Amino acid sequence: MFEKILIANRGEIALRIQRACRELGIKTVVVHSVADTEAKYVKLADESVCIGPAPSSASYLNVPAIISAAEVTDSEAIHPGYGFLSENAGFAERVEKSGFIFIGPRPETISLMGDKVNAKNAMKEAGVPCVPGSEGALPDDAKEIVKIARSVGYPVIIKASGGGGGRGMRVVHTEAALLNAVTTTRSEAGAAFGNPTVYLEKFLENPRHIEIQVIADSFRNAVYLGERDCSMQRRHQKVIEEAPAPDINRRLISRVGERCAEACRKINYRGAGTFEFLYEDGEFYFIEMNTRVQVEHPVTEQVTGIDIVQAQIRIADGEKLWLRQRDVVLKGHAIECRINAEDPFKFTPSPGRITTYHQPGGPGIRIDSHIYQGYTVPPHYDSLIGKLIATGDTREQAIRRMRTALSEMVVEGIKTNIPLHQELMHDARFVKGGTSIHYLEERLAAKEEATKGKP
Ligand code: ADP
Repeated sequence: MFEKILIANRGEIALRIQRACRELGIKTVVVHSVADTEAKYVKLADESVCIGPAPSSASYLNVPAIISAAEVTDSEAIHPGYGFLSENAGFAERVEKSGFIFIGPRPETISLMGDKVNAKNAMKEAGVPCVPGSEGALPDDAKEIVKIARSVGYPVIIKASGGGGGRGMRVVHTEAALLNAVTTTRSEAGAAFGNPTVYLEKFLENPRHIEIQVIADSFRNAVYLGERDCSMQRRHQKVIEEAPAPDINRRLISRVGERCAEACRKINYRGAGTFEFLYEDGEFYFIEMNTRVQVEHPVTEQVTGIDIVQAQIRIADGEKLWLRQRDVVLKGHAIECRINAEDPFKFTPSPGRITTYHQPGGPGIRIDSHIYQGYTVPPHYDSLIGKLIATGDTREQAIRRMRTALSEMVVEGIKTNIPLHQELMHDARFVKGGTSIHYLEERLAAKEEATKGKP
């Protein structure tokens, strides 16, 4: 097993990876920016290296500085966490060329999945259900484009092959608007992603976001760890996630999960990964694959008992998969609330010093967070300050535990979205389960309308 791993990330995930390493008896090196010098996980790490000033471009995205830090500390492997360089094929390649192990898929796999047209083709070939649409990239010929859109049926969505983070997409409702939309999306994609390739898909009007977690070793063995429902979103950012997904036929999930595992074997996928789907009227439609650990991985860990971060490390170390599909058994229900340093209803970021902090506890409560009383949330990064995860025998019990935990949790000095989560845990539609990806935004808009003009 590795003796020392370098963690190329910050915040709660840096601490999460560190905990996984400690349990496996691995020493940790944390790289950090000047703004994170006082962070708890920096002090807790066996070693730390400051790699640059606060802006991510000069620190957490500074590839030469990260590689040098790995060299001077004699690290053997690099864990990229999520965000930052985690899905950057060029970084993965540099890591391996410099003689370190990248804890994630091979660079070629990251490239393949980063190009949505190629990713979708690979998935179709492997039998993963995809959204109906153009066969690969849209052609230049206007008549052909019109023909494709007609055969798919309106509304359609034009998507950039190199797009990400919810950018580079345009919905088209009528034929009259089609060609303009294609031209605009192409030129925007060229400017933003350096790749003007676009493709067309049927636009699903009221889907849920359901994703399947997989782990695969370097020897074409793969299992799926069930699904997560991440439909509670605002501006394509997930707010609440849960496992399993309420009210979806288990047989259907097994069928889709098995297709995902099979796709991993086919493309020789290595490590942890997530197949993201839109789910509508009893059908799954693949949209993209994430080739890294995800923020919401704990809900899957809670219901499977499998430590996904440790699995990533053991697989990177060359271990053969120790699980067969029948060893993966789901038990109970888990819900995660993302706790952000932001105004709960206006969503403006709220960095600053945490003057008071009380952490909830009790049966079924897990907190993945790096914050503490006296900690200052820096203004330079994502607003996620922690994740509150409640697990119960049933979904109802998980919700009840979450309500209690939210009421116990006190974070003062900054604003957080805890009040929003408290409302949502009492929202009749959420409590029933199975809301679409638009539900949260519609609810927020309705609330704003209702309070308009009131003090
Ligand atoms: P990104 O990599 O930018 O996150 P995705 O392909 O994952 O792009 O799509 C992001 C979001 O856009 C989805 O979560 C969904 O809300 C919406 N979306 C994408 N494709 C479709 C589609 N065919 N129909 C309806 N909504 C879609």
